[in-house]
Amino acid sequence: MTMKSTQNNLPLQEISHESDLDKNFGKHIAKMAHGEKLFGCIQCGNCSASCPMSVYMDHTPRKIIAMIRAGFRDEVLSSKTIWLCASCYNCTVECPKGIKITEIMYALKRDAILTKNYPKGFPIPILSRTFYNEVKRSGRINETSLLMKYYFSYNIFKSLGYAALAIKLFFTGRLILFEKGIKNKAGLKQMLSSSKN
Ligand code: SF4
Ligand code: SF4
Repeated sequence: MTMKSTQNNLPLQEISHESDLDKNFGKHIAKMAHGEKLFGCIQCGNCSASCPMSVYMDHTPRKIIAMIRAGFRDEVLSSKTIWLCASCYNCTVECPKGIKITEIMYALKRDAILTKNYPKGFPIPILSRTFYNEVKRSGRINETSLLMKYYFSYNIFKSLGYAALAIKLFFTGRLILFEKGIKNKAGLKQMLSSSKN
């Protein structure tokens, strides 16, 4: 049996029995995507045909919908597809069943970050997670803090190539080291935690 690895280093076991599937995954994602009717998908493939990113994806949007409904939770969440989605809304416009596939992609990204189940070493989910944590922490984005935390999580050696640029930006006042954050951080945290569902 082939094993893959997710970001949290849990082994990703390929589905070999129906009992390995997460039968509630479809309903869970539909709820996160504000009640999206993904169970009404007729697998016509219009979404995949209209998607400008589908050639780079490991699973096309049509296949992702089929996998969600069937309960392939780990395969879907650890797929690069959801991180390559450019939120262009072509699929949503072209879907004959009115399924908002873009919203489903957003819901999958949120679920992947919350469960730390995304492709290992892939930069986009790491940046998204760091961005989310920064907003949650202070209510604002400080580019210095964001980039430092991102490179620490992703690849610290890659940040060295930008050191000269960072120094230049600092001395021209374009790189701010400390930010105050918003006043009502407790209110923001409450709002973010209520949006998890
Ligand atoms: S376009 Fe809509 S109905 Fe057709 S495969 Fe995609 S999600 Fe399903
Ligand atoms: S919103 Fe995402 S999945 Fe839909 S067509 Fe655009 S890139 Fe593809």
